[in-house]
Amino acid sequence: MPLNSWVEIPFDSDFTLVNLPYGVFSSDGRSPRVGIAIGNYILDLQAVAELNFFNEPNLPPFVFAQPTLNEFMALGRPVWQAVRRQLTELLQSDFPEKERLIPLLVPQAEAVLHLPVRVGDYTDFYASEYHATNVGKLFRPDQPLMPNWKHLPVAYHGRTSSVVVSGTDFRRPNGQALPAGADTPEFGPSKALDFELEMAAVVGRDSVLGEAVSIADAEGFIFGFVLLNDWSARDIQRWEYQPLGPFLGKNFCTSISPWVVPLDALTPFRVAGPVQEPPVLPYLHPQESTHFDVALEVLLGGSTFENQSISQSNLKYLYWSFAQMLAHHTVNGCPLRVGDLLGSGTISGPTSDSLGCLLEMTQGGKIPLVLPNGLQRRYLEDGDRVMLRGFAGEGSNRVGFGEVTGKVLGLRV
Ligand code: MN
Repeated sequence: MPLNSWVEIPFDSDFTLVNLPYGVFSSDGRSPRVGIAIGNYILDLQAVAELNFFNEPNLPPFVFAQPTLNEFMALGRPVWQAVRRQLTELLQSDFPEKERLIPLLVPQAEAVLHLPVRVGDYTDFYASEYHATNVGKLFRPDQPLMPNWKHLPVAYHGRTSSVVVSGTDFRRPNGQALPAGADTPEFGPSKALDFELEMAAVVGRDSVLGEAVSIADAEGFIFGFVLLNDWSARDIQRWEYQPLGPFLGKNFCTSISPWVVPLDALTPFRVAGPVQEPPVLPYLHPQESTHFDVALEVLLGGSTFENQSISQSNLKYLYWSFAQMLAHHTVNGCPLRVGDLLGSGTISGPTSDSLGCLLEMTQGGKIPLVLPNGLQRRYLEDGDRVMLRGFAGEGSNRVGFGEVTGKVLGLRV
């Protein structure tokens, strides 16, 4: 029996009654506050709380009058679930006091969306076997995957100061790169600017220094998920990354989508993960499925042309699940904190139309990608816009992520 809402929800909306993603918005010149997306609207949760619609004793009244979700997330899963239950009731067609809620809806078109989370630490994984193999082949045709790859989810520690919300444009980074055939580097704007199709888990619970989170408990530490674009300068990355890994080729900008889709909204879309062979160590072995079926798409637009669809991938193509990443991240006792972000790494699929970055699509810039409109790209040009989208389910059961978009600006002159 599908749930119906008194809010009009367009048929193809990402934001149905079974989604209810959290974000931070402002409108009418007021300070940023917490809301949920429903159809083409935002329900103002600060206002809902002020009218005492929540009868949850562990929900302080100020928690939605905040510029981030951190205070709400820190209240813990029982409170998240109670609020989600109540919001579902409030928004259903038969809710008796819906007339009092109508004024609390803000059209999304009239709101500014802000970075939803005060991001603590950001870790980026490398969890797609297709991506790791495709990239590995470019450098090591005989042994694309490193010997450790199927035994642990590889990652590096990223930088949070450059994590931005969708719609934030950024300048092409400067840096050092080694031109082909040269033996000394040149300095200048990156000539190999790329995107990475990723998703990220938002950590909603602190873990304890010195204590590992078990694989069985790992999802309990995840509040929800966002789309993530890990913009990458491949020429800078190639020259700097040995032996300590990504640095300035990665940390100039990372974009996330404004709506955090609760893990509880995705549980109907669990799907079996890949067979993990050789078998993983017991601390990484989940008893039940921890993978999710989320369709993903990359669109590329330019200063003179509209968005062109260039890839269709899926979260289920990951080899390592977020639960496995989280269990591995804490196995040495490193604590996670509310607001931490765990990126999946580029989510590539098995076919040439499901690749998650230009590095793969163009085989390191060698073969140009031909867009549906006939234009070509090896890497991103100034004025290019990349949009990532994702959703699970369909119709009134659709759970969508909205979009994360960013535009490449030229260097300041
Ligand atoms: Mn990445």
